Amino acid sequence: MITTKVETFNNYIDGIWQESVSKKTFNSLNPANKEEVVGVFQASNEDDVNLAIEAAQKAFPGWAKTAPSKREAILNQAANILEQKADQLAEELTREEGKHVNDAKNEVLRSAQTLRYYAVEGQSFTGETFPNDDPNMKVSTEREPLGVVSVITPWNFPLSIPARKIAPALITGNTVVFKPSSDTPLIAVRLVEALYEAGIPNGVINFVTGKASDIGDRLVTHPSVRAVTFTGSTAAGEDIHRKASMTTRTQMELGGKNPLIVMDDADLDLAATLTVNGGFSLTGQACTGTSRVIVLKEVKEAFIQKLVDKTSVLKIGNGFEAGVKIGPLANEKQMKNVLNYIEFGKEDGAELVYGGEPLTTGEFEKGYFVRPAIFTNVKPNHRIAKEEIFGPVVAVIEVDTYEEAIAVANDVEYGLSASIVTNNLKIANQFTKDIQAGTVKVNRTTTGNLMNAPFGGLKKSSTSTFRESGRVGLEFFSQLKTVYIGY
Ligand code: NAD
Repeated sequence: MITTKVETFNNYIDGIWQESVSKKTFNSLNPANKEEVVGVFQASNEDDVNLAIEAAQKAFPGWAKTAPSKREAILNQAANILEQKADQLAEELTREEGKHVNDAKNEVLRSAQTLRYYAVEGQSFTGETFPNDDPNMKVSTEREPLGVVSVITPWNFPLSIPARKIAPALITGNTVVFKPSSDTPLIAVRLVEALYEAGIPNGVINFVTGKASDIGDRLVTHPSVRAVTFTGSTAAGEDIHRKASMTTRTQMELGGKNPLIVMDDADLDLAATLTVNGGFSLTGQACTGTSRVIVLKEVKEAFIQKLVDKTSVLKIGNGFEAGVKIGPLANEKQMKNVLNYIEFGKEDGAELVYGGEPLTTGEFEKGYFVRPAIFTNVKPNHRIAKEEIFGPVVAVIEVDTYEEAIAVANDVEYGLSASIVTNNLKIANQFTKDIQAGTVKVNRTTTGNLMNAPFGGLKKSSTSTFRESGRVGLEFFSQLKTVYIGY
């Protein structure tokens, strides 16, 4: 294992970069070459979390009173820093997570834009006034920050997801304790550094790395934590939601099993392209990734042929190579999980028509590479049709009618994103009503969402509470007071 000249990174608590109380560390590895250590990080324990939350609690009254224009200036300056360092950060993100460096750079720039968006939008986020029968009384609502917010994030969008949580939390006057995924702590350090260099006061943002099993509970159950914003698996989200107290808000963005319906009038070229882009970009590791394609039987054979043709030309490899479309899976657990599901698909009787094998020789030898898999003859009750895989596996399910397509699409516990390919206006509109998903699209990929529009799922893809992104993304981070003033 290559560990020479590897930098060690610290936690950031109360304005000081510091070692964890445990003095233990862990390595972050490159998933395209597991022998390469990207960085060494603090394996924090509950004492570190306590210190971070206490620092955030201490800083809260001052930050809540800080002029919005000052909060705005810090977010904008942090955005400038991310943009100035975009090439370096993109390279680090690719080394740590595996996505192509062009995608990584887009993520860095989008994260900077998110900071700017909330810097502005947060300043006009106000209450309302209410007409009432008393001519000498004014009734209005005021918005106040909550206090300390725990931000817990996954590895697949390791910069843009933290940005879309931390920016609205800060602009509305909350203080933050941020714990990133242990697969992508370096890019998380860079976000905190940008805020630090932009002049954020001590204790307003705090940063701890470490295992969920060591520090997760404390981040959720510490009595000073007023809110937990989490993105990750449904199992972890349910655990956190259960453990949070009645006075701790939770915002959970969780798993998905996103369908794309291909109608008999669909442009099949478009349908195949949307499936490839939605199912295999980011190596299938997007929460909104297309994992089920529900196809009307008249067009199934022609669709599958196009899908296999378009998939077979995708270049697999290291995210630094030009033209690579499929990078490595993010870690060993991901690789095992994806390969297990490919076996479940075969055992259940689905037909593997393309890919699905691990790539273990030559340039792939040291990384977590799998050829994207396409299954046909998948039945709605198969595990690959029901459970989130979070990898490059697409299950094609044949149906006879639109009604059957909707029944199959809705017959899962998730409801994150869904799309239909059709030129029929009536069906397209009907679909937006019939489908159980928080994001509904027509003739577009299931993946991708605007920063200025709400984002979140139905059923087990989110808690039924607050949406992320856009203006409504600010609501989670503030509480309302209703004020009656007689004069
Ligand atoms: P994960 O649930 O394993 O971990 C996510 C984060 O939560 C990590 O920082 C982890 O350390 C922490 N964590 C895990 N269990 C915890 C617990 N009990 N208490 C406190 N913290 C805990 O998820 P992952 O493997 O990092 O990411 C993949 C998952 O994330 C997929 O299920 C995917 O669908 C989901 N995801 C959802 C969205 C969305 O917006 N809905 C976006 C991206 C990813």
